[in-house]
Amino acid sequence: MISFRPPTHTSKPEGGHPPAAPERTEERAMCQEHEDEQINIYCVTHSVPTCSMCQVFGAHKDCEVAPFKSTYQTQKTELTDGIAMMVGNNDRIQGIISQLEETCKTIEENVRRQKSQLCEKFDHLYSILEERKRDLSSKVAAEQEEKLNYIRGLTMKYKEHLELSCKTVETGIQTMEEPEMAVFLQTVKYFLKRIGEASSTSHLEMVERGYEAMDHYTVNFWREGRALHSIDFISGRKRKSW
Ligand SMILES: [Zn+2]
Ligand SMILES: [Zn+2]
Repeated sequence: MISFRPPTHTSKPEGGHPPAAPERTEERAMCQEHEDEQINIYCVTHSVPTCSMCQVFGAHKDCEVAPFKSTYQTQKTELTDGIAMMVGNNDRIQGIISQLEETCKTIEENVRRQKSQLCEKFDHLYSILEERKRDLSSKVAAEQEEKLNYIRGLTMKYKEHLELSCKTVETGIQTMEEPEMAVFLQTVKYFLKRIGEASSTSHLEMVERGYEAMDHYTVNFWREGRALHSIDFISGRKRKSW
């Protein structure tokens, strides 16, 4: 026979309060198979809690059982120990992680230091090169100055000589046009002597052959280039590969 119960009202109670949750009294877990039996023994064979009816007649009648309380205590102790061990382990792992992080920082710091040292050493090399370049360039420039001064001086002397020569020619032409024979004869001797002097350039230096050459300032940096190419760390070729 099936009994019908009237449908329960699902509308919310007045005031909007949700229905109160069932109070958690000193409830004991009850067996699903035997509704009146408390779960109060432990089946060691299946590692489950069960009831005494199950142990005597039911699913666990051939099983090894243990008192509920003592099993509870043993397993609780076991769990406590397990937790303590895990906490210890976690601490140890945390320690390793911290150490690894510390190692990262140290590596970064060491790299930073080595890099700045490297830059410093290279800058020093650059400054040596710059200094040598400046010195050598200024030697070439100094010789240029000296040579140009000499040539310019010589040019001045030749120009002065040319000017004098031109004047002599001019005066010579004037003498040619002298109509008075007596005056002409008086001055011509003097001018012929002057022409002789003016046409001679023996007192003016000649520029030496190859004076303009500057190839004695040729450089050969082959060895230095090789040395630069061989720049490496002191432990260069013996570096460990991790
Ligand atoms: Zn049962
Ligand atoms: Zn069992």
